[in-house]
Amino acid sequence: LKANNARSLWHPMTAPSDSLNNPPTIITGASGTRIRDVDGHEVVDGVGGLWNVNLGYSCQPVKDAIAAQLDRLPYYSIFRGTSNDCVIELAEELRAFFEPDGLTRAFFTSGGSDSVETALRLARQYHKIRGEAGRTKFLSLKKGYHGTHIGGASVNGNANFRTQYEPLLPGCFHIPAPYTYRNPFNESDPERLAQLCLQALEDEIAFQGAGTIAAFIMEPVLGAGGVIVPHPSFMPGVAALCRKNGILLIADEVITAFGRTGAWSGSRLWGVQPDFMCTAKAITNGYFPFGAVMIAESVAQVFETDESGRAAIGHGYTYSGHPVGAAAALACLAETKRLNVIDNATARGAQLFDGLMRLKDKHDVIGDVRGGKGLMLAVELVGDRASKSAPPKAQPGQVQAVAYQQGAMVRVSGPNVILSPPLVLTAEDATVILSALDAGFAAL
Ligand code: PMP
Repeated sequence: LKANNARSLWHPMTAPSDSLNNPPTIITGASGTRIRDVDGHEVVDGVGGLWNVNLGYSCQPVKDAIAAQLDRLPYYSIFRGTSNDCVIELAEELRAFFEPDGLTRAFFTSGGSDSVETALRLARQYHKIRGEAGRTKFLSLKKGYHGTHIGGASVNGNANFRTQYEPLLPGCFHIPAPYTYRNPFNESDPERLAQLCLQALEDEIAFQGAGTIAAFIMEPVLGAGGVIVPHPSFMPGVAALCRKNGILLIADEVITAFGRTGAWSGSRLWGVQPDFMCTAKAITNGYFPFGAVMIAESVAQVFETDESGRAAIGHGYTYSGHPVGAAAALACLAETKRLNVIDNATARGAQLFDGLMRLKDKHDVIGDVRGGKGLMLAVELVGDRASKSAPPKAQPGQVQAVAYQQGAMVRVSGPNVILSPPLVLTAEDATVILSALDAGFAAL
């Protein structure tokens, strides 16, 4: 397995030469919050798969629901005149769940990038139906991550995810993210920084012309960009600017929906009602590739009252509404509520955040600790604390390797060591993660 893994498989977001020189850890089994590799080494999964395995790996009701649905109806399309019962039931369930947020319709996809693409496309169509075809541009945050399709890549804030695929969608502009550790304003106070970023957004809207902008897309807590938690005033401020200027607000909740931040969604955490909410990942917890875009009642009304035919939804996938994915999602939603993982995410998140702050006192390689909202945390490594210089390239990878040997899988993204463990994490698991990281930082 180890010798052959780079010969026939390209690993995403990895240089093929890396897979040859530095073979990946091959996972062959998992149960609860633990994963096991090909050598039989077992560790706590500090990253929950890829921010998605909220309920852990042994969720029997989800496995049972998938098996039962496979027996009953493994697939039927929901295209042009056909539907399936399981996906209708899921849409009703999600409607009940998200109605307090003003979101009443569901459009199903097979993952996060598909959900983002869906929202971008429907946002443009919404403006066309309303006779504002000039609204085509998209705004987003500089450190935001929105997936890999050409639309999503165009709104990605990190240029590393964009430049290789240029030319991208024209008319996408990125404004500074409320990232207190480093920002162009040199402002470390979260509230003042939020105001400065909002001013930058207002200026960009004026510069572009409000009537040219279709939507603003943001993650309520930025994930891949290094777990950036905005000040509570930020997202409501964005929502107000969008509303004032006729711009749709797309909440990219591919990571944050279904409990990760210690709230049911990031939008609910900040008290914002978005026009579209992109979800995927934890909607099926890794048990099936699936996603959903929730759509505001006010947006749905525009599509549903248009009699000119312009509202025909020309968007959809073979797997929009896969019944097995829908069965998995229904079971995951029920388990997420039954196990009260939201409260556990808050408690374990606080334990990890406090522990990381203590590690910061001990290890000079830690520049910044971010989190404080559920089980989304990051440690930013530095070469030098005073100048906040970037760490030597090998260091973050070394933290991951040592922590893994000491019992915890953590993930490295640029200078950041990221934690996003299952929401069913125990206090003991959290202790294992912290001591494994302590060893990892000490090794530097
Ligand atoms: N949006 C966000 C916020 C994400 O974190 C991700 C994936 N990490 C995506 C979109 C893309 O999702 P997927 O990888 O399922 O296509």
